[in-house]
Amino acid sequence: MPVLPYRSYALISREQLRQNYRSVRAAAGPGVAVMAVVKADAYGHGAEEVARVLVAEGVEWLAVSSVAEGATLRRAGIPVPILVMTGVLPQEWPAAAEAKLTPSVHSLDDLRALDRLARESGQIVDYHLKIDSGMNRMGTRAAAAEIIAALRSTTHVRLSGLMTHFASAADYTSTQTDEQTDYFSRVIEQLREAGFTPPHIHMSSTNALAYRRNPSWLTMVRPGHALYGYVSPARGNAPKPVLNVKPVLTWKAKILTVKEIPEGARVGYGGVFRAAGPMRIAVLAAGYADGVSHRLSNKGKVIAAGKLVPILGTVCMDLTTIDISQTPTLAPGDEVTLLGREGDASLDAQQIARMAGTISYAILCGIGARVERVYV
Ligand SMILES: *Cc1c(COP(=O)(O)O)cnc(C)c1O
Repeated sequence: MPVLPYRSYALISREQLRQNYRSVRAAAGPGVAVMAVVKADAYGHGAEEVARVLVAEGVEWLAVSSVAEGATLRRAGIPVPILVMTGVLPQEWPAAAEAKLTPSVHSLDDLRALDRLARESGQIVDYHLKIDSGMNRMGTRAAAAEIIAALRSTTHVRLSGLMTHFASAADYTSTQTDEQTDYFSRVIEQLREAGFTPPHIHMSSTNALAYRRNPSWLTMVRPGHALYGYVSPARGNAPKPVLNVKPVLTWKAKILTVKEIPEGARVGYGGVFRAAGPMRIAVLAAGYADGVSHRLSNKGKVIAAGKLVPILGTVCMDLTTIDISQTPTLAPGDEVTLLGREGDASLDAQQIARMAGTISYAILCGIGARVERVYV
């Protein structure tokens, strides 16, 4: 790997993304489609390039959070169906229609509003109906009879998908997943009896898929995190995860300056780190504006010359200071690894999240826009 000219950059492995996708595909099994979740700029990996790789692999669907995200993918020439998972506001409808995005619908009022908009524009619009099966976030809680009545009253929209979302799929100390599955199954069954049999029925994101929460696959699975190389650790008596995925993203930063400090010297804002003895420190060209969590102040680690070394003092907006007393060959212009692997030392988003008191998703999504994404 040549040394790149960027102060801080994320290397994204297309090959690892492909391998993770293939593992997801194999776990889903034959006849089950994959809807790849590429919201939030593909969890910081760059949605356009991730979508291109997955489309070349044959992914059937993509899912985003907003109309703006979907429209960006269309402008990049991504042809596959794209679901907007948090719904489409009336003000967003023209942009959604223009980009041929598939809206999800989260209440019967929204369904009737979409039907009106579709009628006014003289179109038939396909949508996925989200059922709130017990997470109490997005989706309708209406009884099946009310849903059926609303479906019968619409004229310009077509129910092409039914979906729900699990709150606790990796938690085997909770019965919530079984309760949600039962609730959703009853809705599917009642709709079927009323003659509504949408072609796409999906509820499983990464954790349900990884821990084989059958029979929750239905016709399609909806993973995000697994594609980027992560499965959340389970709680309780869980089966071994079936996915074989590894992190796609490696994050580097350059050393800007190196100095020796004497015993008692204080480092950074507030002087929260005090040297117990003489030491050699390095200042890195990445801070919380780049996504190095401020909560790693005085407790995070990075990999420098193949060794895990501590972050000293507060993480600043553009800078982070580390201890390189054990790796004295490092000089300005050299690189350290903020997330990734060097030899035996490795640091993934889950390990960083534990140190920062957050979750791996937030670490990945938090990698800032000014960190150059480089695809290899
Ligand atoms: C984010 C999201 C997913 C993907 O979840 P992962 O845990 O990343 O696999 C699936 N469905 C919905 C509704 C989501 O919001």
